[in-house]
Amino acid sequence: RFITLEGGEGVGKSTQARMLSEALITRGLGVLLTREPGGTPGAEAIRKLLLDTQFNWDARAEALLFAAARSDHVDHAIRPALDRGEWVVCDRFIDSSRAYQAGGGNSSDDAILAMHTIGSHGLMPDVTFLLVAETPEISARLAARDGDNQDRIGGKPEAYHGRVETRFRDLAAMDAKRFVLIDASGSPAEVHGRIMEAMEPLLGE
Ligand code: C5P
Repeated sequence: RFITLEGGEGVGKSTQARMLSEALITRGLGVLLTREPGGTPGAEAIRKLLLDTQFNWDARAEALLFAAARSDHVDHAIRPALDRGEWVVCDRFIDSSRAYQAGGGNSSDDAILAMHTIGSHGLMPDVTFLLVAETPEISARLAARDGDNQDRIGGKPEAYHGRVETRFRDLAAMDAKRFVLIDASGSPAEVHGRIMEAMEPLLGE
């Protein structure tokens, strides 16, 4: 089973990915916890390039670099784990490219999906948890997060992040079978509880 967590900055994806994978391990399941961009040495090297503000990547170059990083990540980490019968929990995946490079930037969704078909054989998650929270709560979390600005690609304007947020919600609305919207407000334990509730049907299978 391939599970991804998606959402804008500061919604708590990484914390929730970790808590979810720990819960699955506690149930005796084999789990690969990973993240994008990154997850393999090659893709982590591309992540460093993407996060380096001196390059000022435009959306197309950014999309190609993400697709290249994802290709390496899928071939050398995600696919092998799925083939071993493990659960894969991934912090961001294709939907981040669809939201950031297409929604926020100027690539089309079709172009992003075509790159994904070439790069990663179009591998899609079985379930995607989209974490959503109100903006003031997120702003407070980001302000409290040390060095956040270094983690953001190219200091994008607020409007860009607004478009990303809207696109995430549109993607979820278009594919209600795969997406589960998770209220990301409250404590990490509360959010984790919501995710585990949504996981129950999958775990019973
Ligand atoms: O989630 P994380 O903090 O690891 O993301 C790192 C940066 O990469 C963030 O600035 C996020 O906005 C950006 N990103 C992006 N396009 C993606 C994935 C992440 O612009 N496809």
